[in-house]
Amino acid sequence: MKRRKFNSTLALGVSGVALTANMPLACAMNSNQNKKKLGVALVGLGSYSTYQLAPALFDTAHCYLAGIVTGTKEKEEVWANKYNISQDSIYNYDDFDSIKDNPDIDIVYVVLPNSMHADFSIRAARAGKHVICEKPMAMNVEECDAIITACKKANVKLGIGYRLHSEPYTQKVKRFAKEKTFGNIRYISADAGYYSGSNPNQWRLDKSLSGGGALVNMGVYAIQSLIYGTGENPISVKAQEFSTRPKYFKETDETITAQFEFKSGVVGNIMTSHNANANRLYASCEKGWFELNPANNYGPLQGTTSKGEKISFPHESQQKLQMDDFAKHILFDAPNLVPGEMGKRDMIIVEAIYKSIAEEGKKQVLDFEPRYGFGE
Ligand code: NAD
Repeated sequence: MKRRKFNSTLALGVSGVALTANMPLACAMNSNQNKKKLGVALVGLGSYSTYQLAPALFDTAHCYLAGIVTGTKEKEEVWANKYNISQDSIYNYDDFDSIKDNPDIDIVYVVLPNSMHADFSIRAARAGKHVICEKPMAMNVEECDAIITACKKANVKLGIGYRLHSEPYTQKVKRFAKEKTFGNIRYISADAGYYSGSNPNQWRLDKSLSGGGALVNMGVYAIQSLIYGTGENPISVKAQEFSTRPKYFKETDETITAQFEFKSGVVGNIMTSHNANANRLYASCEKGWFELNPANNYGPLQGTTSKGEKISFPHESQQKLQMDDFAKHILFDAPNLVPGEMGKRDMIIVEAIYKSIAEEGKKQVLDFEPRYGFGE
């Protein structure tokens, strides 16, 4: 028995359900019982796939690692052995489109440099696979639109790799905003950054591959914090850029600050950097404050409030929770916590920030529907 068949009997993917029509009853019953575990193919086996996503897929309840797509031949055998992946479910970037014929793969998870997100997400959708696309969603808003359109046309689900939405500290902060636990929020601030000083040839410093610097890499977390921390989309932004190591950051932004206005009157501020470690969300409200620090790493996060309470949850892999939430969206029509429109909204804000910097800090108007980009 080929290993692919073995895998699909163990955990038949949804795209394999049609096969049950002509199967003997006992076999079909067996498949139906097991079909709820969806097969995931990781595209790009770099550090995030290797150290976070693949290990998390050992623990997920509703999906499992069924395939890989890699440009590095040597990784094929290592991953096949470690994760029991069938030879039939190993692809490279050129033969990737034939994944359409593989019933074991239900979800394609794109974990490549940012410039490759749109191409592979669109190809995955055309292959009839559900798509998770890593953050930042794409290089620009136009590419985000192309991904959203391709997924709609193919009638497949689309999620963005914003893992924090499945994470309990972040969910608690969302509730503070929704329930006005500390009254109306008046000021919100979020920082997201780390010191980058190694390998000057890494793709994150190459604008043609990354699309930008700290802002697209870490700044999207700070933008996200402001939005889920208030429960509102911003109505304007002004931004500034700072550079202290131009020889290292030849093409990409090093540090950016930006100030936001919200319709309710909240004022927001973000700082994102590839030159400073920063990881915090703080909200000052009518009747107190709440804070997450750290707010956006792989956890455990930590939270405190003006009531003196320490927010505390048992730690679980954020990636495990995120991938299971997406699988539940497909299997049980559970809410999509991170729709494509959320990635697009953030890219609209990223573009407005770069425009403001190019126009020496000029205010840019943002015109979103109140709930545009919010997960269900
Ligand atoms: P990485 O550099 O570790 O891995 C990139 C992978 O892409 C490698 O396997 C590499 O071989 C492959 N690749 C294909 N073509 C390439 C090219 N032209 N140049 C460079 N690499 C190429 O990167 P990573 O940290 O795994 O990040 C991948 C994606 O995941 C990025 O979009 C990043 O923003 C995202 N990410 C998200 C999180 C999160 O918490 N959600 C964390 C880390 C990374």
